[in-house]
Amino acid sequence: MPELPEVEAVRRRLRRQAKGARIVAAVFPRPATAHPQDAAQIGRESAGRTIREVERRAKNLLLRLSDGVTLRIHLRMTGNVYVIHDARERSPTVRAWFELAGGAELVLDDPRALGRITLHPDAELEVLLAKLGPEPLSPDFSLEYLVRRARHSRKPAKLFLMDQGEVAGLGNIYAAEALFRAGISPTRLMQTLKRPKLAVLHAAIVDVLGDAVQSACTTYARPGRLEEAERFCVSVYDREGEPCRICHRTIRRMPQGGRSTYYCPGCQR
Ligand SMILES: [Zn+2]
Repeated sequence: MPELPEVEAVRRRLRRQAKGARIVAAVFPRPATAHPQDAAQIGRESAGRTIREVERRAKNLLLRLSDGVTLRIHLRMTGNVYVIHDARERSPTVRAWFELAGGAELVLDDPRALGRITLHPDAELEVLLAKLGPEPLSPDFSLEYLVRRARHSRKPAKLFLMDQGEVAGLGNIYAAEALFRAGISPTRLMQTLKRPKLAVLHAAIVDVLGDAVQSACTTYARPGRLEEAERFCVSVYDREGEPCRICHRTIRRMPQGGRSTYYCPGCQR
């Protein structure tokens, strides 16, 4: 599932490809991709507008259109958005596309068809996104913020990090990796972490995401899984049964919040 680094990689590429382009028409061969909105209406309201900017908030791609509306794209499990210059390049798993002036198409390619595209007046979008925690790579995500939120949280560290209302954009992979780098057990209750340990965790989150954005931007090809070519070197994620690169104990997996959590029983306390 694309997390912050992968969505950021898609954003940067899309910004180069589509900023300034004018939308001519929208086509939703799978109207449910617009759920709970009406695909035809998105088509009518986006036609004629220009893509002013391509932004990201948490795992949402935001295409800022002219005259105060925004297309919000969530890639979910396997979505990817890119521009093609010939309709013959359109893959059978494209669930929606926007025809751009000049003949190019901005497509949502999504094998599992869980991705969503909706259109919002900017003011409405602000309300929808207001529930999200701060961007972890922005100054809003300060140590003070983390200390304050941790003090009031009875959640285990891994579930806290994956809560989009606490920190935006972290998912299963990078939450596990950040906890490994910080030497914190995924089941450790946030409330029990003292300020010096939270400072280590804060730095680990920023480092992991910074490294992962670099790696995703150079190698991220297809959402859905970590590509073998992806250069981000995972320490624990999906390494059950393999030796820890630091202490050589066996990496373990456990269920947590309906997902698998990977950790090193030696390095993480
Ligand atoms: Zn270890």
